[in-house]
Amino acid sequence: MHRIAFVLTLVVLQSSALLAQTPIPDWCRALPRPEYKTVQRVSISDPWFEVYEPAHGVFAIYEPHQAEETISYLVVGEKQALLFDTGMGISDLEKVIAQLTRLPIILLNSHTHNDHVGDNWEFSRIYGMDTDFTRQNALGSRLDAQAEIASGQICGELPKGFDSKVYATRPWKIAAYTHDGDRFDLGDRTLEVIATPGHTPDSISLLDRANGLLFTGDTYYPAPIWLFRPETDLDAYDLSIRRLAALAPQVKVVMGAHNIPVASPTQLPKLVAAFDAVRAGKVQPLPDSPGKVVYKVGDISFLMRAPTAH
Ligand SMILES: [Zn+2]
Repeated sequence: MHRIAFVLTLVVLQSSALLAQTPIPDWCRALPRPEYKTVQRVSISDPWFEVYEPAHGVFAIYEPHQAEETISYLVVGEKQALLFDTGMGISDLEKVIAQLTRLPIILLNSHTHNDHVGDNWEFSRIYGMDTDFTRQNALGSRLDAQAEIASGQICGELPKGFDSKVYATRPWKIAAYTHDGDRFDLGDRTLEVIATPGHTPDSISLLDRANGLLFTGDTYYPAPIWLFRPETDLDAYDLSIRRLAALAPQVKVVMGAHNIPVASPTQLPKLVAAFDAVRAGKVQPLPDSPGKVVYKVGDISFLMRAPTAH
């Protein structure tokens, strides 16, 4: 009996090892995304990252080799630079930043899910939102990080020296708290914090009003928007996207935190209309992975919890 179980375990282990070796997961076949042809590329030395300059002094630091396709942003002013997220923590973001600017770095996170805070530990001037969710995530964790390197999540090569066994989100220190309406003066440009809770309690957007740039984190990006986690609050999300849509006339480019670094501000009122339609029960859910469904309205889609049967 035990012997059979042992043999079965071996078979399962071997087949998952085979899966892990599958060279090209489906999501990875879609890369490079065509929108990147329209954005200026910047060369750096670490092949884990691709860096683009979608607006003057704004660097989008993209991680195309992992399924989240996370994008962190570095906004460079005359006196200091603001880093908005630190990605997966799979390679060394600080080394990339050092190739882009020598100015002192202020770090803010669009929110503190593991795929946006992975290299926070490498920085010291970290502003956090004053929420228990933020404080809890600043303690670090292993579970979510490990899921990010499971079978089918990696496209191409992990960085040399990366140790998957010890991969975890490392803890970081919140140096100060930031709040809705705070302004960060970088010298010749200012970024304003807009609290946009919903995806998480600590989600924020950043507005560079003078240049018409809006950084929306995971509140909006041009791919399915994840609204299924227990910390997601749909009522809060509803209010937050209305706030962003009201800014659309002043905005030239919307920069979200996954897949593609540029979107039109006309997407923001469309996002509100799409979300309204979903909440009004006017959109048929499509099945996704167990417990989740996708709602699709034109080119906007939401990945949400499956409705529970009454
Ligand atoms: Zn997130």
